[in-house]
Amino acid sequence: MTKQEAKDYVKRTPPPRGYFTEAKTQYEGQPTYVCPACGNGSGKTGTGFHQDPNSPGYYKCFKCGEYGDIIHFIGLNEGLDPGSGEAFNKAYEVYNITLGQTGNHTAQNSPGTLKETKPVQEPVKKK
Ligand SMILES: [Zn+2]
Repeated sequence: MTKQEAKDYVKRTPPPRGYFTEAKTQYEGQPTYVCPACGNGSGKTGTGFHQDPNSPGYYKCFKCGEYGDIIHFIGLNEGLDPGSGEAFNKAYEVYNITLGQTGNHTAQNSPGTLKETKPVQEPVKKK
C-alpha cells in the first residue's frame, strides 16, 4: 500500500473498535468518541467527537470544536503533533497498515514500528 492509498483508506474508515473510547451517545447514526483534546464524551452528557456528516472523513468535537481528519485525532490522542509524520505513522499502526517501501525518508525515522509481529502459526488439528 502506498502512502496515498493508506491515507485515503484511513480517512474513509472509522477508527478500529477499542482504539478510541466510544461515548454513550450516537450522532446521526454514527458512534461518537471521547475527545482526546478536551475529554468530552466521558461524562454524563456522553457526546464526544464524531464524524462530520457533511464532510465524511472529518471529525468534530461538540464541546471544544476540535476539527480534523482521524489522523489529527489519533495524533492528539498520542500526544503527537497532529499532521506530523509521527502522527501519520501512528495512524497507520492503529489501522494495522503496512506501507510499501517507497524510499521515502520519513520511513527511516521509525524503523520497524510498522512491522507485523504477530505469529501466524496455528496448531493444526487432525481428525
Ligand atoms: Zn473536545
